[in-house]
Amino acid sequence: MKDLIPLEDWGFVKSVPAIIAGPCSAETEEQLFDTCKAIKEKTDVSLFRAGIWKPRTRPGSFEGIGEEALEWYKTVKDELEIPVALEVATAKHVESALKYEMDVLWIGARSTANPFTVQEIADALQGVDIPVIVKNPVNPDLALWIGAIERVYNAGIRKIGALHRGFSSYGEKEFRNAPMWQLPIALKSDFPQIPLFCDPSHIGGKRDLILPISQKAVDLNYDGLMIETHINPDEALSDAKQQVTPDALVDILASIKVRSADIGDESLKNKLAELRSHIDQIDEDILSSLANRMGLVGQIGDYKKENDITIFQAKRWVNIFQNRPEQAKKMGLSTSFIEQLFKLIHDESIRIQTKILNS
Ligand code: PEP
Ligand code: MN
Repeated sequence: MKDLIPLEDWGFVKSVPAIIAGPCSAETEEQLFDTCKAIKEKTDVSLFRAGIWKPRTRPGSFEGIGEEALEWYKTVKDELEIPVALEVATAKHVESALKYEMDVLWIGARSTANPFTVQEIADALQGVDIPVIVKNPVNPDLALWIGAIERVYNAGIRKIGALHRGFSSYGEKEFRNAPMWQLPIALKSDFPQIPLFCDPSHIGGKRDLILPISQKAVDLNYDGLMIETHINPDEALSDAKQQVTPDALVDILASIKVRSADIGDESLKNKLAELRSHIDQIDEDILSSLANRMGLVGQIGDYKKENDITIFQAKRWVNIFQNRPEQAKKMGLSTSFIEQLFKLIHDESIRIQTKILNS
């Protein structure tokens, strides 16, 4: 996918990060127009968003206006002269969106999770030149996300973006959809040419979380933010808790600190180089300590084999899992980080000893 077109050449991007804003759903002609007009007047918005067909988790919720809203959206686009984006989930949606000259399409999280749906959308896009943004699937499956992007690419689309909106999980939680930042980061490192957007509205699920999530995305060098904005969010027919007014959007955007990805002047570069070479050294120490540790694990494996002792010695591991995080805490390290690290080390130790016992 080396020949993808960079975001700055999509033709409408006004700022870094690019701002995509608009209501969760188009509800009435006035609501849509007034929301978009206020956003345009107050911000540097690059692209409007609005849902016309809404994939709702349970029946009975507001499922979108459908085709009629495409006419409203076309008026917005023509009068405000800002391109418009919407979600498509079927070939029929694609056909209607193209008929009304919509500018950008996105594939929603529920659709990305289903290869048949993505393929149907991709087939409807054959031979069309339109940017397509692919949201992450609802489940944390990076290959499924990449697969959906590849299906769109194989249809001939060359303006493709990825949109991180978080991942579903069960139970009480801090975020509506867990961000699991490691997935979009892995996507970005494997495919740096794919513009990456963040949707803090669907990740957070509440207004207060939009700023911290956006800041984190900007600090991770995301290319754009999609923020649900509504002229009267408390009365919104979908996702009321996470939508903000155009004025609140202005405050959020003003509070985001955009730091430079470029390292800048010489003395700063030297200082960074010095700290990084120190880190390289420490990483080497960590690796050689791990190699030593696994060597000892192997020796214990030999001993267990000779004496017919089981690999897993519960008491020993209860002790390690208690003791290491306690030690780590005294050193100012996060206990959950050390718990996860030792869980990995334990898994690897068991793997090594299983191999020895079965040899
Ligand atoms: C949306 O953007 O309105 C939407 C339905 O989001 P998602 O596909 O991320 O749930
Ligand atoms: Mn929404």
